[in-house]
Amino acid sequence: MANSSTNLTLIVRVAIPVPLNRLFDYLIPEQLTCIAPQPGTRVSVPFGKSNKVGFIIETVKTSDIEINRLKQINEILDESPLICKKDIQLLQWASNYYHHPLGDVFSAAFPVSLRKGKKATLSQEKYYTLSKKGQLLISDQLKRTPKQKQLFEHFQSQSKSLSATELNEWNKNWHSALKSLLDKELLSIELKTKLPAKKVITPELPLAPNEQQSQAINTLTAKLGNFSVSLLEGVTGSGKTEVYMQVTQKVLDLGQQVIVLLPEITLTPQLEDRFKKRFSVSLSVSHSKLTETQRHSAWLEMQQGHSSILLGTRSALFTPLKKIGLIILDEEHDTSFKQQEGFRFSARDLAIVRAKLFNIPVILGTATPSLESLHNSEKKRYELLHLSERAGKAIKPKFLLFDIRNKKLQDGLSDPLITHIKNTLTKKEQVLLFLNRRGYAPVQICHTCAWVARCQHCDTSMVIHYAEETLRCHHCGFQQRLLTHCPSCKIGELKPLGLGTERVEQSLHALFPTQKIIRLDRDTTQRKGSLERHLEQINQGEVDIILGTQMLAKGHHFPNVTLVAILDVDSGLFSIDFHAIEKLAQLIIQVAGRAGRAEKPGTVILQTRQPDHPLLTVLLKEGYNKFARTALAERQQASLPPFSFQALLRVYASNPADPQLFLNKVCTIIQQINHNKTLVLGPVSAPMAKRAGYYHFQLLLQNTNRKRLQALLDQLIPQLYIVKEGKKVRWSIDVDPVDLY
Ligand code: ADP
Ligand code: ZN
Ligand code: ZN
Repeated sequence: MANSSTNLTLIVRVAIPVPLNRLFDYLIPEQLTCIAPQPGTRVSVPFGKSNKVGFIIETVKTSDIEINRLKQINEILDESPLICKKDIQLLQWASNYYHHPLGDVFSAAFPVSLRKGKKATLSQEKYYTLSKKGQLLISDQLKRTPKQKQLFEHFQSQSKSLSATELNEWNKNWHSALKSLLDKELLSIELKTKLPAKKVITPELPLAPNEQQSQAINTLTAKLGNFSVSLLEGVTGSGKTEVYMQVTQKVLDLGQQVIVLLPEITLTPQLEDRFKKRFSVSLSVSHSKLTETQRHSAWLEMQQGHSSILLGTRSALFTPLKKIGLIILDEEHDTSFKQQEGFRFSARDLAIVRAKLFNIPVILGTATPSLESLHNSEKKRYELLHLSERAGKAIKPKFLLFDIRNKKLQDGLSDPLITHIKNTLTKKEQVLLFLNRRGYAPVQICHTCAWVARCQHCDTSMVIHYAEETLRCHHCGFQQRLLTHCPSCKIGELKPLGLGTERVEQSLHALFPTQKIIRLDRDTTQRKGSLERHLEQINQGEVDIILGTQMLAKGHHFPNVTLVAILDVDSGLFSIDFHAIEKLAQLIIQVAGRAGRAEKPGTVILQTRQPDHPLLTVLLKEGYNKFARTALAERQQASLPPFSFQALLRVYASNPADPQLFLNKVCTIIQQINHNKTLVLGPVSAPMAKRAGYYHFQLLLQNTNRKRLQALLDQLIPQLYIVKEGKKVRWSIDVDPVDLY
């Protein structure tokens, strides 16, 4: 138990990124106690047989472990803490709420470089300048070495220190002369921090806001300096970005910094571009496609206050800021703000927690608010701000519902749709077709015996990819060569069943042989820069028909697209996950937002076999808002989120019996502690039970009271780490899951 200690003993409690739900105590060696490291400082510690980088959470005088059994830290890695107390509180809150080990949560907040123990400094650059001796020298004394003389005179004329970059701009051939001048001690070297590049351009001027924009800007500006959440609901093209930028300017005027979170930066290069052109201050960008060094720099530029605006994806939320003033989250409804693996946090919800800790406002912007956020605005927790008209002259698109029951379809395209495509092309306008399935067809089936090519590792069929002559599993990545004969009956012909983008593309080529058709999905945009190249072609008007998956729904502006069609709406209507209809409605409205952005009116066509689906009808006749209220009423009836709170316990193992044994044990534990009426749904096998060779099962916990659900999890989760049934399985807990798979 607790040990007595001398005054000299200093123990630090350290969060280490290992899958154990606890902190670790270490001794600070006597020679280092004078430093008394603060919470938020990194330390290198011995752990098992290796060393790890950990984060100091607190300094204590006693430990539950006997002093003489405690190990000493190896090294204190930072002179001062890298994150402040409030940010430590944020991470602790997140660890408690998502029931995820604190060490791992800390890891998520730091770039990989710092997790590995790299020095928390921006990279340094060498600068050369005339030394004392050099200042006294007359250049003629170097006349026998003309190159050195020339370089020396260049330094004299510049009268400032010069970096390699600057020397290169002057003359590429300076290296050996520089070395000689250094050897003669005529030059000296100093190291300077490499700061984000200063901008030379004159920033673009803000647009004159329309009345609704003005109102939003004024309301939001008045909120600066205090905690609040505002939901900026504005149809696509209504000028939300303009509002973000004008409020950002006010925050910059106060000498503070802004975080702008986006679902996917690489898919929305326009937004980054607009911010860069608008502001003269330095701007940093952080997302997973950057190199380790780039993310390291972005993190430190914000932390040290060299940069004023951070544009980033969900984990950028944790970046420490010297003077945080505002958090903006664009496309707040997008589920990519929820991390779906490891530390399953919602960047949107944590942005609000962080804003509360720092007493600053949050702006959530979207054309299609999530049902949770709408519910929160109805409860007056968020202030709802509207931008109901498209900025400029753009007209709202017209919706058409095509009933495709009993209709002839040519690879998913109905006759009236083909007619609309033709008419649009005649007017020299662009068409955008949307199908959320890549490959040629999702099933290869035998025409004689109905044999289906299935993945050996998953409960799913293999997808045909004709272009590469392969069959591929979209769940585990397994692939094999395309089969030509049925392996079962040996005589049957194998046929493709169902639709993928590759198949529709082929059909489009046959129907419109002279038109330029482009397919955008994960298969055609894998190579770096290929998406950007395709987008450029579209914007240059070199493309007539664009066919693509979900990635097309995000943020792109295609001003010459006037016809948008969603080929298969029904997959969203039939899902067993209650979130699916909400996501479908958002998708329809978002995709529709791509049509007719300029002065040309757009048309949106939806092909469905359920033309009378009540929610679909409401969406098209009365708009997203009415849809959302109707869907919310249904959720309330069924006591589903946001009228209740959920946590999903997912389990998998290579032996199907093990997850069930584990979940049965979990149910027993819950029965012992569940005095607060948490609904326990399951255990059931996951909707796709076998994936990549593992058997997946799950248990859903639901309570109408968030605190009660949390209280149950507080008691339950620590036990899951120790029960013996847990040893043979992998489990994870997902608080507020955004999908139930
Ligand atoms: P959102 O972010 O809501 O999709 P944007 O801010 O991108 O909308 O605005 C859509 C288009 O309208 C952009 O081209 C933008 O420059 C223009 N725009 C926005 N606000 C105004 C305004 N007040 N006056 C004129 N044009 C505007
Ligand atoms: Zn598979
Ligand atoms: Zn067969």
